[in-house]
Amino acid sequence: MKLDILIIGQGIAGTITSFQLINKGYSVGIINNTIQTPSSKLASAIINPLSGKKWHQIAHFYAFLEDSISSYKGIEKIINQSILQPKDHVYFFQSREEQIIAKQQINPAWYEINEEKAFKNINSPHGYAQIKQCYCIDQEVLFEKWKLYIAHHYYYDASSFEHSALKYENNCWQYRDIQARNIIFCEGIGAKQNPFFNNLPFTKNRGDVLYVNIAGLDNNYIYSFKERLVPIQDQLFWLGSNHTWEYTDLLKNEEWAIRCLQDLQEQLPYPIQLIDHKVAERPTSIGQQAMAMQHKDYPNMGLLNGLGTRGFLQASTHCKDLLTKMQL
Ligand SMILES: Cc1cc2nc3c(=O)[nH]c(=O)nc-3n(C[C@H](O)[C@H](O)[C@H](O)COP(=O)(O)OP(=O)(O)OC[C@H]3O[C@@H](n4cnc5c(N)ncnc54)[C@H](O)[C@@H]3O)c2cc1C
Repeated sequence: MKLDILIIGQGIAGTITSFQLINKGYSVGIINNTIQTPSSKLASAIINPLSGKKWHQIAHFYAFLEDSISSYKGIEKIINQSILQPKDHVYFFQSREEQIIAKQQINPAWYEINEEKAFKNINSPHGYAQIKQCYCIDQEVLFEKWKLYIAHHYYYDASSFEHSALKYENNCWQYRDIQARNIIFCEGIGAKQNPFFNNLPFTKNRGDVLYVNIAGLDNNYIYSFKERLVPIQDQLFWLGSNHTWEYTDLLKNEEWAIRCLQDLQEQLPYPIQLIDHKVAERPTSIGQQAMAMQHKDYPNMGLLNGLGTRGFLQASTHCKDLLTKMQL
């Protein structure tokens, strides 16, 4: 089989890369294993203009937003299903001091601070901020429908890519019965095993996520208390997450889960039912810079990785840069 580009991995990086290439008229193939819980499937999959709890606006946010909206809208057209939904994000201050810091940093284009002691039925003794320009992405629909689309119209193989079986012949990549003019690795933390890019500053951290059922809570908002609560469907919400940099396993952090549920129950007037608890690793880099690069010896080999905590916002822009570098 002959392809223009073979892509390894179908998290958010591989999905966006394949979309942008198809949009330019190239033929693509994806090889993606499903051995572990990939970061993209466990992410809250929101787009948010704020960086952490310091109330800093993400640099170049509008440029990232424009590129990502263009990709998600393009994918929506192809799969004929909605995946991107604008949602306001209600951030409940946990102390008076936090509210003062937020006010000092405020850019009225982004937030509206409210001194009121309640938002709807939710107790909010220190006030809250309502943040605009936030979006939720339905990642389940995105990844499943996109996989089906690629399998139907191009080539999709749900197996593990073996780097040692990749050969370079006549300026093309040969992998088993596939001949591709270019190859792009979008392997998330799997890149640690990639011998072609083994000198990059890859790192990773782990995050626990809870899935909770909350009858009565309005699912038209994203909520931030000590942790973030993101609507998935009906009364089902995503709750998390922690960032652990030093760890030896991916066992559930039960202590964090209990504390997280207790903290949330203190603020919510509705009963919270725990449905599931999962753990995943975020692919990142030292200095937390995304990596969109060509191989130093092979201009037709690329890598998109290290998307950290903002893959759903930043993948499109970094992918665009990578394709420009690779002259695709
Ligand atoms: C708890 C948590 C919450 C998050 N919340 C958000 C959020 O709200 N917003 C946001 O923008 N980001 C969020 N992130 C970060 C985001 O998930 C990552 O930036 C993004 O998912 C990274 O995507 P990726 O495609 O690079 O990697 P991955 O999602 O890990 O995808 C890599 C894929 O490649 C496959 N693969 C790897 N090696 C091979 C191989 N040899 N052969 C075949 N397939 C292979 C893997 O199985 C996987 O499917 C969160 C992350 C976590 C863990």
